[in-house]
Amino acid sequence: MANVIVVAGAGVSGLTSALLLSKNKDNVITVVAKHMPGDYDIEYASPWAGANVLPMATEEKSRWERRTWPELKRLTEDVPEAGIHFQKARVFRRKKDESAPGVHVADPLFSANPWYQSVLPDYRELGPNEVIPGHDSGCEFTSLCINTAIYLPWLVGQCLKNGVVFKRAVLTDIRDAKALSHTGQPAKIIVNATALGSLKLGGVKDETMMPARGQVVVVRNEYHPMIATSGTDDGATEITYIMTRAAGGGTILGGTYDVGNWESVPDPNVAVRIMKRAVDVAPGLTGGKGIEGLSVIRHGVGLRPYRRDGVRIEAEEMKGDDGETVVVVHNYGHAGWGYQGSYGCAERVVELVEGIVRG
Ligand code: FAD
Repeated sequence: MANVIVVAGAGVSGLTSALLLSKNKDNVITVVAKHMPGDYDIEYASPWAGANVLPMATEEKSRWERRTWPELKRLTEDVPEAGIHFQKARVFRRKKDESAPGVHVADPLFSANPWYQSVLPDYRELGPNEVIPGHDSGCEFTSLCINTAIYLPWLVGQCLKNGVVFKRAVLTDIRDAKALSHTGQPAKIIVNATALGSLKLGGVKDETMMPARGQVVVVRNEYHPMIATSGTDDGATEITYIMTRAAGGGTILGGTYDVGNWESVPDPNVAVRIMKRAVDVAPGLTGGKGIEGLSVIRHGVGLRPYRRDGVRIEAEEMKGDDGETVVVVHNYGHAGWGYQGSYGCAERVVELVEGIVRG
């Protein structure tokens, strides 16, 4: 018998969940969402991401990132049309950032003996001559960068190939998704991948959800390797990273990580600081011409779906208006690591769905 499933949300979390679920031919899947790949909206985080793999989890919580890397690596090696390329990453540390105030979401990235050195290839500590001025140490490893403008539509295409149907819908309550399967039958399982939408969505209303605002500047200049630094002198919410996307996607200069800030309009002062910091840590970005040598494609702002207690991936039984039970499998709250944890999280969604189907 078919398992009628509705996935709510078409960001990287909903699409990856739908893709892995669609590999089982007993699952009949509809994806419903307010925003779909191709849209740019402040309520839709996925298009704004860099997106690269710079592990942020502690070792105890590293399952999602550990289990995602092999699949992203396979796609990079074997599926060029997914729009991902390998890039070396260099991470630079300052001692003073270890005790600096602010939200330290990416602390494990900057640890001196990180768990991910056994997962990401070619890890090595940098020699003193390789560390950029103003920093105390650093490391290098092989990572990758996803061109999200190519990758998200690619995910949709893979889902379509497996029979997934896509529909636009704006839900006021997660249980409303039960009636939205393209089959006309009520869904037995709903996957909730509505990210920041879960803050106000009826049936969920998770008040621990909040935005972690990220402002970026996208430029035509290319730069290798990717760079991330442990802190800046421009305040606790400002960070520095550089990554050149695959397939002509431009280079993302970041950024900010501003928890609780909903502002959708790029702040020009922040933009100048981002560009200045980028040419400071990577003068080669403009061949030594400074900020004037940058060719700006656009300024952008995305809201990372931050959850105070970390990602929520679990099944919850809910009663609908009709008195019937529906099971909601939640997969939301990925903050700044939604791509680099996407396959690990979607794999857990599949395990939960299989458990529900088995009863
Ligand atoms: P979203 O992409 O926000 O999708 C939510 C979906 O739910 C949308 O389709 C929306 O329309 C739908 N929805 C919401 N509410 C409703 C409703 N009521 N009814 C119907 N539909 C609804 N991650 C990385 O791994 N690497 C990076 O380098 C990286 N860099 C980033 C840089 C920036 C500037 C930003 C902003 C984010 C970055 N991220 C990165 C984080 C990543 O973008 C997010 O973790 C990820 O996109 C979250 O995906 P999602 O599918 O959970 O949410």
